[in-house]
Amino acid sequence: MKILKFGGSSVGSPKAIEQVKDILQSKVQDGEHLGVVVSAFKGVTDSLIDISQKASRKDTTYQGDITSLYGHKRAIIEDLITDDLRNQAINFLDEAYQDIHQLLNGMFLLGEFTPKAYDRIVSYGEKISAKTISLYLEQEGLISAYLDASTLVKTNNEHTSAKVDFETTNRKIQEFGFESSETVYVITGFIGSDETGAITTLGRGGSDYTAAIFAAAIQGVDELEIWTDVNGVLTSNPRFVKQAYTIPTLSYSEAVELSNFGAKVIYPPTIMPAMKKGIPVYIKNTFEADHPGTKISDNSSTLNKSPIKGISSLDNISLIRIQGTGMVGVHGIAARMFSCLANHSINIIMIVQASSEHSICIAIDSNQAEKARNVLQQQFKLEIHESWIDGIHVENQLKIIAVIGEGMRKVPGIAGRLFKALGTNGVNVIAIAQGSSELNISLVVEEKDEAKALNVIHDSFFLSEQKSVHLFMIGVGLIGSTLLEQLKQQQMSIKERYNTNITVHGLANSRKMLIRSEGIPLSTWREHLDMDGIQSDPSLFLEKMIATDLANAIFIDNTASKEIPTLYDVVLENNISIATSNKVAASSPFEYYSKLKDLAYKKGVHFQYETNVGAGLPIISSLRNLINSGDDILGIQAILSGSLSFIFNHFDGSKPFSELVQEAKEKGFTEPDPREDLSGNDVVRKLVILARESGYQINMEDVAIKPILPDYLFDIDSVDEFMDKLKQEDNSFSKRIADAMYRKCKLRIVANWNPEKATVEVIEVDHTHPFYNLKGSDNIILIKTKRYFDNPLIISGPGAGAAVTAAGVFGDILGISNLL
Ligand code: ADP
Ligand code: ASP
Ligand code: MG
Repeated sequence: MKILKFGGSSVGSPKAIEQVKDILQSKVQDGEHLGVVVSAFKGVTDSLIDISQKASRKDTTYQGDITSLYGHKRAIIEDLITDDLRNQAINFLDEAYQDIHQLLNGMFLLGEFTPKAYDRIVSYGEKISAKTISLYLEQEGLISAYLDASTLVKTNNEHTSAKVDFETTNRKIQEFGFESSETVYVITGFIGSDETGAITTLGRGGSDYTAAIFAAAIQGVDELEIWTDVNGVLTSNPRFVKQAYTIPTLSYSEAVELSNFGAKVIYPPTIMPAMKKGIPVYIKNTFEADHPGTKISDNSSTLNKSPIKGISSLDNISLIRIQGTGMVGVHGIAARMFSCLANHSINIIMIVQASSEHSICIAIDSNQAEKARNVLQQQFKLEIHESWIDGIHVENQLKIIAVIGEGMRKVPGIAGRLFKALGTNGVNVIAIAQGSSELNISLVVEEKDEAKALNVIHDSFFLSEQKSVHLFMIGVGLIGSTLLEQLKQQQMSIKERYNTNITVHGLANSRKMLIRSEGIPLSTWREHLDMDGIQSDPSLFLEKMIATDLANAIFIDNTASKEIPTLYDVVLENNISIATSNKVAASSPFEYYSKLKDLAYKKGVHFQYETNVGAGLPIISSLRNLINSGDDILGIQAILSGSLSFIFNHFDGSKPFSELVQEAKEKGFTEPDPREDLSGNDVVRKLVILARESGYQINMEDVAIKPILPDYLFDIDSVDEFMDKLKQEDNSFSKRIADAMYRKCKLRIVANWNPEKATVEVIEVDHTHPFYNLKGSDNIILIKTKRYFDNPLIISGPGAGAAVTAAGVFGDILGISNLL
């Protein structure tokens, strides 16, 4: 025989109830013998409680609410049951509502909602649903009957969470004779009755428990199935963690632990009766009946590579702390604290005591926090008076996050991994406890950090195979849009190869910006930005980006803006990494540059700017690798500007200099105003970045620059006029190139750095020099180090262009993602 339980979520609508019927029918056709436990229709328990509270507050709107609740139930009956059984169902409903009305009337008059009245009124939720479903099954051809569990499940009189008297209950269930009956009983979950016959309930979510009680009491039950609205027990609450997935098998202890710490999918007491009888519990989805769901039994499989099984969270937590120097080495404080709380029925969820014994901290339900403070203050009155104890401190609005799995036992490094992941993502952990069974690590965080903490832990343990990285990009011009195109093309293969899910959540250009926590589709980002974007504002972009609270976030700056880099510190401060093709920050005053570096280090995030020098060429990363492997950078000589490279590589005297500049401008190799390149400033920036990477404190003013052009050309306002006036310099350039060619040399604009000096100047190079044969707009860099002394390391290749630059930023993103 099998006991099946269908939760409120499985009986929320006529359509859902049809699914339930299909599941039952197919099992009966397979010759299975079934007992069915049902919850109240979805939302009914909550509504009945709300309405009762209203009535007891003398809020007359309760009357309208109860009428509409009745209407809703009646509609379900009329929808499902069409033949003469319909009247039976409606009569049952009407009788129930007569009592409900009387109860509400009483609450209204007395102005109180007692636990006893609570149990009686909410019990109608399960009674009505069980009756309706049993009649519906009968109509559909099953031999079915309604059973009010309060006639069999006997409890004490602790209303709202009564304790089961198993001896009597088991006897009564066995006497009922389910084994020998063909009938599919539809049993009310959640409810019982006390010695006097008054209705009691087993605690919110208690229908699961009812099912387990019946499964354990009836002889020959070989399976308990809990049918709900998710595919079993997932690695975390799917409402918070979108990536959560089904745990195929759990041990009973793991299931207890997960449910105790908030995995609402199973009501904690459910496991015990099943475990005692060794009955496996299956958690299945009514709406995806073929999915295998989760099996809870003696075995905890290690199919899942992760040492942990699941992560859950517990709401409404307060921390109570007793601390004081007078507590050190004093016996019995903890014992007094615990027994005092126990005497006042205050349940302790978690205990933390630092080994210094300076403080004891306990987590309890916030509803009991005030009471706990008062009774403890009373208990330790003397100690507080003598200042041995500072007082009783209470912190509210907290959550407990619990990480659970038998695989954690004796595996070192789990806690380290856990706290690194949380720290990197800026989640502050207030208290930590690890059970000595090593089955559970619990930590207390602020309420606002709950979703982030769950996602971060989930990513770091379950998705080490599958990680999610969230991008926010300002600047969707040539480089930005190319990067988005590359991301779109690579998204699938990155997912397959690295199990990393890269999604874009923010985009901005100079006019519009769009932030979406659910992501922006890469094939239609332009339309979304145009249509749904709001007016662009970098500070607001940051504000909204931070508010999404997404873990593993990367901010990307593909602009040439001088303003945006001044906000990088805010980005890093909020535990968001940066990948930027914008050179301004890395070449900004040393103080700001090192502040950013320090911040990134402190926050455990990354500040990457590989494309600042030589676009996609691996220049910065090579310098870092050399230094990390113990080498010293002794000098750098380089051609670092794609635009100047283009001009000088083609300057052989066959065309006037001004004509080459014009050509470079037309081909898009220069900035709109070519003087930006010809001033040499861009090269200075890059040289500063390289020198800093080599470990030297240097600023842009420290670079001596020999101007290529005379000053007066920089005073001209219009670009056209400048281009015109540039012709006046053709002769002098022609003479320079002729002289150089006479000496069999070429002109190159070269950046030079060694620990003594930094320069940018035009020099002549002969055919023996590696720069002599440079082509097109290529860059070249010579790195002289302790190891590469006689033969410097040379890196050469295209140093400009949207495709290579975008690919370089892409590389930074991947680098950061692997490190996060
Ligand atoms: P029912 O009405 O069937 O009793 P519940 O609402 O009590 O269903 O429990 C199912 C819900 O539990 C899911 O919809 C989900 O939101 C929540 N839940 C919380 N943690 C988990 C988890 N680890 N795995 C699956 N569901 C979870
Ligand atoms: N209907 C009850 C509740 O909402 C019991 C249950 O659903 O398990 O708590
Ligand atoms: Mg439930």
